[in-house]
Amino acid sequence: MDYVSLFNEFKIPIDTSRIGRGWVNTQCPFCGHAGSYHLGFNINDDFATCFKCGGHSLRNALIKVLNIPAQTLQSILEPYQTRLQVLKKLNKEKPLNKEKIELPDYPLSVNEKQYLLDRHFNPYKLKEDFNICGGGWVGEWKNRIIIPIYLGGKLISWTSRTILPDREPRYKTLENELSVIDPKKIFFNLDNCTGSTIALLEGPFDVLRFGDNGICGFGISLTRTQVLYLSSRFKKIFILFDSERQAQKKAKEYGMILQGHGLDIYLVDAFSDYGCKDAGEMSPYNIKKLKVELFGDFLPPTENNMRKRLGRVSNGIVGKGNKNMGGDNFESF
Ligand SMILES: [Zn+2]
Repeated sequence: MDYVSLFNEFKIPIDTSRIGRGWVNTQCPFCGHAGSYHLGFNINDDFATCFKCGGHSLRNALIKVLNIPAQTLQSILEPYQTRLQVLKKLNKEKPLNKEKIELPDYPLSVNEKQYLLDRHFNPYKLKEDFNICGGGWVGEWKNRIIIPIYLGGKLISWTSRTILPDREPRYKTLENELSVIDPKKIFFNLDNCTGSTIALLEGPFDVLRFGDNGICGFGISLTRTQVLYLSSRFKKIFILFDSERQAQKKAKEYGMILQGHGLDIYLVDAFSDYGCKDAGEMSPYNIKKLKVELFGDFLPPTENNMRKRLGRVSNGIVGKGNKNMGGDNFESF
């Protein structure tokens, strides 16, 4: 929706400093704070979320901001929607995916096995749990560990990790045209998620370590399809990204979007507590401990760690001692 024209027409003060990232901001009528622009309208996906008080239905947010009777909203919005609808039509992708694909399915080479062992993974267990395989002796997947992506038991695509140091890209994913479903629109390991709570991790090796109820995406940002999928299937999501600053910023960005779609989101900066950079570096034992803390598995959480680590996105608490990342500092992303 063309929020800039809409708000200009109604003489609503706006902040367009984040328009490049797809947000138009107004003052939030739900939590007040005159002079600060916390209520963000997402241009691409048409939803509203306040960086202080959380997600709001787009309808309610617009009625409040524009200060109009509810029944007039639809007709007021019409002229501002056309542009988006045209764009949507233009962006509609041709159906170009495959019906069925076959894994390269080579055995892991000695070097590939060694790479996994060096990272403290058990190659046989990974084969059993995730059906990973080798990249073959020649061709484009050579020296890569193939990580298949399944959905509903069907192979829909795969990604791969190079075993060579300094080789780019580190992860190479099968292109959309050669996949059953565009990997950018789906997540890895969805078939091993059982409940309504999951952990969203950064990369496939984090998921290989984390195991059941852990997923990751393959693009550099969340797609609309991914957001809708998550919000329709799950209720609560722990976002566990690397502890480095850039990753935590991304985690927060994802958190805001998902929260705007009604999901219960927690940002967890847990790995640094274990002296690790990411889940891939964690020992299987510590992963088990962390999962008990997150999902409460069969045991009660060990200590009161949860309280220290977890924070709702709108409260902006990201891990320990990082309380400044939220709220007013939303500007930083
Ligand atoms: Zn608010």
